[in-house]
Amino acid sequence: MGTFTVIAPHGGRLVNRVPPQAEQAGLREQMAGKRAVTLGPREVSDLLMLGVGAFSPLEGFLTSADYHAVVREGRLASGLPWTIPVVLPVAEDIAKAIKVGEEVGLRGENGQLLGRLEVRDKFRYDKEEQARLAFGTTDRKHPAVDYLYRCGDWLLGGPITLLNEPPVDSCYANFMLHPRETRYLFQQKGWRTVVGFQTRNPVHRAHEYIQKCALETVDGLLLHPLVGETKSDDIPGPVRMECYRALLEHYYPKDRVVLSVFPAAMRYGGPREAIFHALVRKNYGCTHFIVGRDHAGVGNYYGPYDAQRIFTRYGAEEIGITPMFFDFTFYCRRCGHIVSDKTCRHEESDRLAFSGTKVREMLGRGESLPDEFTRPEIARILAAASQRHQM
Ligand SMILES: [Zn+2]
Repeated sequence: MGTFTVIAPHGGRLVNRVPPQAEQAGLREQMAGKRAVTLGPREVSDLLMLGVGAFSPLEGFLTSADYHAVVREGRLASGLPWTIPVVLPVAEDIAKAIKVGEEVGLRGENGQLLGRLEVRDKFRYDKEEQARLAFGTTDRKHPAVDYLYRCGDWLLGGPITLLNEPPVDSCYANFMLHPRETRYLFQQKGWRTVVGFQTRNPVHRAHEYIQKCALETVDGLLLHPLVGETKSDDIPGPVRMECYRALLEHYYPKDRVVLSVFPAAMRYGGPREAIFHALVRKNYGCTHFIVGRDHAGVGNYYGPYDAQRIFTRYGAEEIGITPMFFDFTFYCRRCGHIVSDKTCRHEESDRLAFSGTKVREMLGRGESLPDEFTRPEIARILAAASQRHQM
């Protein structure tokens, strides 16, 4: 097998903000006595993603020029597509005390030193504008808008250095592959084309169908569940991982799938987050990315196909990764399998739809989930977890 080049990262170069092993202890020591900013869970996750190059070409939190270009144009100041503001908000008193040019420590809520920020910029920002343009609403019931309004009124921008990887939940520890590692793995496997699938829920038959449809046309599948901060009503991590592992073990070919966790925080930013998710998966080495109906949506803030339509606002070459659009899928009794409006001609009454709410209710009543909805191995895991009151 000849060598080949994996897809180029966004912006052409995979960023690495992790210092060489030999310098790490010294840098940590240097930062020990310096002023530090405490990060919330979202910023901790952003710091990790920035450090390992998942957010290439970003090398740190956005400075004013990039921030305004991202919010207003969906691009960095350089013109490169980028849709989600990756920012470090702080309260006014903290911003006033910090000087541009200063190096500050970045710490987790427990005080652990995680990184360093070279402050290149500090600026006030317009939350209402960001909510309206980036999330399409100023309604505080939208989780990202609510988070935004609870954030500090100033932003610090500049390149970061990742000095300690934030601790991850033990259930994810064996599944944490960074972009450098997935890229290497894909090359070792000889995969020229890889489709990324983002999920935050245990896998339904409908998800399996979509993944396998995509896999029919490419060499490999990166099953990439998001494990950063999500809404509290999503299913707990250990249960989700158990489901994925059971599914892979029983229903997927061993040599065509990589399961790795995606430590990004969920923004519920709908269309803009779909572009963001695609660009980031390009950095992980994916050539294709599945965009479902209402990708990264929440409530009724976005139209069901907005997340697919937004791709037409950018040139295919500047996005680089190929989106694969899927319609809403469901089980049809007449067809006898999972279908969509595109592939089934039957009536509503022949179709079985399962909402997350309905599934939770069934589990709550101790009913087992039907085969048409989920594989029996998965149904058993969910039922057991429900009985342990983990859901
Ligand atoms: Zn049908």
